[in-house]
Amino acid sequence: MTQSSKLHELLKVHFGYDTFRPNQLQIIENVLNGSDTLAIMPTGGGKSLCFQLPALYLEGTAIVVSPLIALMKDQVDALTANGIKATFFNSSQPQAEQQQSLEDLKDGKLTLFYVAPESLFLIESILREIKISLFAIDEAHCISSWGHDFRPAYTKLGILKAYFPQTPIIALTATADKATQDDIITQLGVPNADKFLSSFDRKNLYLDVRSGQNRLKQILDFLKNKLDESGIVYCLSRKSTESLAAKLKSAGFKAAAYHAGLSADDRSQIQEDFLNDQTPIIVATIAFGMGIDKSNVRWVIHYNMPKNIEGYYQEIGRSGRDGLPAHTVLFYSFADVIQLRRFVQGTPTEAFQLAKLERMQQFAEALSCRRRALLSYFGETLVEDCGNCDICKSPPNYFDGTLLAQKVCSVITRLREQEALGMVIDVLRGAQNAAVLEKGYQQIKTYGAAKDVSWLDLQQYIIQLLNQGVLEIWFHENGRLLLTPLAKQVLFEGAKIQLAHLNQRKEIASKTEAEETKTTSLLDKLKLLRSVLAKEMGVPAYVVFSDASLNDMV
Ligand code: ADP
Ligand code: MG
Repeated sequence: MTQSSKLHELLKVHFGYDTFRPNQLQIIENVLNGSDTLAIMPTGGGKSLCFQLPALYLEGTAIVVSPLIALMKDQVDALTANGIKATFFNSSQPQAEQQQSLEDLKDGKLTLFYVAPESLFLIESILREIKISLFAIDEAHCISSWGHDFRPAYTKLGILKAYFPQTPIIALTATADKATQDDIITQLGVPNADKFLSSFDRKNLYLDVRSGQNRLKQILDFLKNKLDESGIVYCLSRKSTESLAAKLKSAGFKAAAYHAGLSADDRSQIQEDFLNDQTPIIVATIAFGMGIDKSNVRWVIHYNMPKNIEGYYQEIGRSGRDGLPAHTVLFYSFADVIQLRRFVQGTPTEAFQLAKLERMQQFAEALSCRRRALLSYFGETLVEDCGNCDICKSPPNYFDGTLLAQKVCSVITRLREQEALGMVIDVLRGAQNAAVLEKGYQQIKTYGAAKDVSWLDLQQYIIQLLNQGVLEIWFHENGRLLLTPLAKQVLFEGAKIQLAHLNQRKEIASKTEAEETKTTSLLDKLKLLRSVLAKEMGVPAYVVFSDASLNDMV
C-alpha cells in the first residue's frame, strides 16, 4: 500500500472523510518526511488533521502544545470518540487526573498527548524516555509578541528543537502576517521549515460593515428572521457582554454572556449549551471561540471593532465552517477606535499595535471590495471583486484612478519602499518641509507629481490603494509603504485602477442609518481633526480625547 493510500484509509477510518482539504496531504507528507513544517491555514481550514494523521501513521506519541485548556479537552474528547488514544495535561486538572495522564504518557501507548506550554517542563524527563513521533505547536502565533495572542510560555519552545533535533516539528497558525511567520520559525529554531500557505478566502462569509449608531436596534432588526440560527456577538468589555445579553433576553432571544471573568464551570456550561444549540446566541469577549468547532454558526456580529484585522478575520471565521452562507456584521464607530487606543497605550508594542489598529480602521472605511482588502492584508490577490460584501452590493461611484495610482507607486519605488504614508504624500505633493529636504527627496524625478491633489485627498486615495491590495504597510518598521505584485502590474503591465470619488463614505453609512444625529456631525469633525493632525504629525497619528469629550460621544 502506498503512503498516500494508507493516509486516505486512516482519514476514512478515523475521521470519516473521503478527501483531504487543500494543502492537508502535502503538509502531512512533509511531516512524514521528517521535515519541519509551518502550516498557515485559515480558521476552520483543518489544521488539527495535519498533525493528528501523522501521529496515527508514525510510531510513538505526538506531543501537541496547545494554549487553551478548553481547546485541548475538546480535541481529546473528539479523538477519543474516534477511537484514538489521546489525553491532555495541564495545571488546572485535579492531581489524580494529572498523575493518570503522566502514567499514560510513560506507558508509551498514547498516539497524542496535549500539553499546555506552561506545563511542558514538568514532563521533560518523561519525554526523554519515550518515543516521540512529532511535536505539534498549535496556535503557533502565540510565540510571537507580534501576533495577537502572545503567550510568554510559548517563547520557551525553542528548547524542543535543541533537545530533540531529530524529531519533526509542525507549527500551525491562522496568522498569515509575514513578520509573525518569520518570528515563529526563528523562535522555534527551525530555519529550514517548509512553509505551506493556504488561501484565506472564505467565500461563503458575507462581509458587512455598518455604522455603529443604534447598534442595539440594528441587531434586533438583524435577528428578526434568524430565530433558530446560532450566532456570536463580540463585544469589547465584559460588562457590555452582560448588558447586551440581558437586552437580547428581554427582547425574547435565548442568549448568554461569556467572558473570562466567569467561573470555569459556567464557561464550559455556556460553551456546551451553545454547541448543542440550547443557547443559540452567545454575547462574548474575544475569550470565546478560539478552537471552538461548531460548524453551523450562521452569523457573527462585532458590536465593537476588533483591534486588528487578524482578530477580525479569526472571529468572523467562526461562522460558516460548514461552507454554507453566513453573515458577518462589523459595527464601526470612532469611539471604539479611541477606546482600543487606550488599551494599547503604554504597552511595549504600542506603536506596532496602533498601526495595526489604524489598518483595521482603514478596512472599516474601505470604499472598494471588502474581501479584496481583507485578503490583500494576508498577502493574497483577489482577481475579481467578490460580490459578497456590502460594498460590492452597493458600490460607490468610481473614476479611472490609474494615473494617480501610477504616480503613487512610482514615488514609493523611488523612495525604495522606505517611507511611511506621510512622507509619501509630502513627496507626491512636492512639500518643502525639513524632513523632505534633509533627505534630498526634492531630487526625485516624480517629486510633486500629484501637487494638484490636496494632502487629505491623497491620504484617502492611498488608503484606497491599500484596501485594493496595490500597497501594503510594513508594520514592523515605522509603517513604511510597500508595493505589492499588483502595484507592479499597475506600473508596468497596464492594470487599471478604479478609485472612489471622495465624500461618499457618509452616504454609505447613512444607508444603514436613517437619521443623522448630532453625534455624526461631531464624529465627522473629529475625523477631520484626526486627519489634520495626521498631516502635522505624520502617520500613524491619533487624536487623544478627554473623558468629557468621550462621554459626549458614547
Ligand atoms: P483549524 O484548527 O484549522 O481551525 P480544525 O482542525 O478545527 O480547523 O478543523 C475544522 C473542521 O474541519 C473540523 O470540523 C474538522 O473535522 C473538519 N475537517 C478537517 N479536515 C477535513 C477534511 N479533510 N474533510 C472534511 N472535514 C474536515
Ligand atoms: Mg485549530
